[in-house]
Amino acid sequence: EKDRPETSTCCYCGVGCGVEVRVDKNNTVSVIGDKHHPVNEGKLCSKGLNLQYTVNDRSDRLLYPQMRYHRSMPLERVSWDEALERTAAVFKAFIDQYGPNSVAFYASGQCLTEEYYVLNKLVKGFIGTNNIDTNSRLCMSSAVAAYKKTFGEDSVPICYDDIELADCLLVEGANPAWCHPILWRRVEAHKTRNPDVKIIVVDPRVTDSCSIADLHLQINPGTDMVLNYALGRLLIEQGRVDLDFLRSHVEGYDAYKERVMEQTLTQSAAICGISAADIELAAKFIGDSKAFLTMWTMGLNQSVIGVNKNLSLMSLNLITGMVGKPGSGPFSLTGQPNAMGGREVGGLANLLPAHRDLDNDEHRAELQRFWSGTTVSKVPGLTATEMFDALQDGRLKAIWILCTNPLTSMPNARLVEEGLAKAKFVVVQEISDKPQTLKYADVILPAAAWAEKEGTMTNSERRISHVRKFVDPPGEALPDADILCRFAQKMGYHGFVYSSAEDIYKEHVRSTVGTNISIDGLDYSVINSMKTVQWPFQKRRKKGTARLFEDKRFYTESGKAIIHSPPADFHSELPNKEYPLVLTTGRIRDQWHTMSKTGKVSKLSQHISEAYLEIHPVDADSLGIDDGCLVNVSSLRGSVRVKARVRASIKPGVVFLPMHWGEVFDSDLNRANNLTNNLVDPISKEPDFKYCAVRVERH
Ligand code: SF4
Repeated sequence: EKDRPETSTCCYCGVGCGVEVRVDKNNTVSVIGDKHHPVNEGKLCSKGLNLQYTVNDRSDRLLYPQMRYHRSMPLERVSWDEALERTAAVFKAFIDQYGPNSVAFYASGQCLTEEYYVLNKLVKGFIGTNNIDTNSRLCMSSAVAAYKKTFGEDSVPICYDDIELADCLLVEGANPAWCHPILWRRVEAHKTRNPDVKIIVVDPRVTDSCSIADLHLQINPGTDMVLNYALGRLLIEQGRVDLDFLRSHVEGYDAYKERVMEQTLTQSAAICGISAADIELAAKFIGDSKAFLTMWTMGLNQSVIGVNKNLSLMSLNLITGMVGKPGSGPFSLTGQPNAMGGREVGGLANLLPAHRDLDNDEHRAELQRFWSGTTVSKVPGLTATEMFDALQDGRLKAIWILCTNPLTSMPNARLVEEGLAKAKFVVVQEISDKPQTLKYADVILPAAAWAEKEGTMTNSERRISHVRKFVDPPGEALPDADILCRFAQKMGYHGFVYSSAEDIYKEHVRSTVGTNISIDGLDYSVINSMKTVQWPFQKRRKKGTARLFEDKRFYTESGKAIIHSPPADFHSELPNKEYPLVLTTGRIRDQWHTMSKTGKVSKLSQHISEAYLEIHPVDADSLGIDDGCLVNVSSLRGSVRVKARVRASIKPGVVFLPMHWGEVFDSDLNRANNLTNNLVDPISKEPDFKYCAVRVERH
């Protein structure tokens, strides 16, 4: 072996597990869990345990830039200079003729913070548009909006150590046993040690997370707000609210009381499709609790009422005074490894770095001075789904897609195909030759993968970790930040010459000074000497911050948290005679997103090897469907053909499809997003992945 092992961070989910990496004399990488990492103490889930295979198998890697002058022509190998000079010339031409809003960048929650920072600076600070969005729009944007409304900023208040301090955990719209496994191991261990700890799981499906639950509320899809308001009403009626906390630190309680009284317990139970007694039991668990943690993820976020669902859950923490206290608070489980880092640097079309606001004149002026670039526009940019609509109708001429595979992950994927087909110019920055987006590319830029580049990531509890480089990228592939800086230079922009990833990081650090997420004083050596650091970083005390709001001062103008109580209206596509079932989508245990990495590892296909439709025996019987037979699933948008899994674990009237499959490793006949619709939450613009009307027939 060339070196002793060095540490890094798993590149899959937002749990942010630490890993130890070794490289042997043949440059073969091996990965084990980092025993000294505060998050995982050496443990890794199936995806993390197999990380090395995705690094060592380079058979699908893009090795050099490619380009073509017309889509009917084959792509040809070109030099980096040729590829970036042409791209810069095309972008300049569109910007000159149609303005900066005619170009857009679509990136990923898997980008490192440094990459996000450079991209944001390039787009918002120099091109002069806010048309940069990421696949975090499909993931965490509802939580971001709800945190801002409730606490004044996008600030996750808890830390993972709160798990072991909680005596009641409400897990809503999440299956962490599969999707955040290492975190869930902590919950399981806590429950084993303390059997009196209460765990409530809310999900239309019986998942592995239910196996340790004291109570599973198998609600009808989309009825979470009704449930949360019913719980709020019971807690108020039973006097199990913290009136001192509400009086001193919270606004909006009176309106909330009125809202939750609109529906009786019986009415709410009927809408949710569960018993009133079960809701009462859940309220008792919460009311009896001394430390109450709410955990959620895509079941709440990926909804046409995603922000309101988030707000209704956060309200339960506020009325019980369970925020800023050990073992308490709202805890959004982040999907992607660095969605949080992206949010820190403002990596969405409506955000600015370090939690600055786009509609705040002073904040925009600060950045303009900091970057010495062009005027930062106050107009929010196009969000993920809007970008592909704008390609369709011609408002957007060019799109640059990096580190993500929208043809599998975006809702109503046919619209995305049409958008890309109509685009005048498509740049795809990618590591793999598999994603379908490459078919539409005018320019392909080969990127370095995990372990081939350096940077930082921030996990679900605001914990910043160092991600190290261990091997050189294959062929001519380059780190994403290098590619973006080279492009910026071709565009003639100053301020994009950095000596290292850390050089970029230091600039990001400077941009946070004076804000609520300040990490002033942090650099890679400080992060590494402390192992990891939770923001905000207290420079004088050389210390991170485990938990926010312990002083009960929130980031709103009044310093109080705000309870929002919007009506629990329903806006999803309702089932009808032609499409009588509700489709919900989600992840499986061993695959990651669109499988361009995990799909390469045969071991990870042993658990579940192909897409499937989970359907209840009652529905299957009435449709003449047997377990394992092929079924056609159709919606107003398209169809899918997969095998049926007849299981009593799903609610009758509801079917489930995993979201991973698409043309990357198979045909697009099993792509869940052929069926989903492009309804989005009006505030967060997050799509309604968890609810659409479908028909199922035996093939
Ligand atoms: Fe990686 Fe997430 Fe698994 Fe941890 S839980 S090993 S971060 S995929």
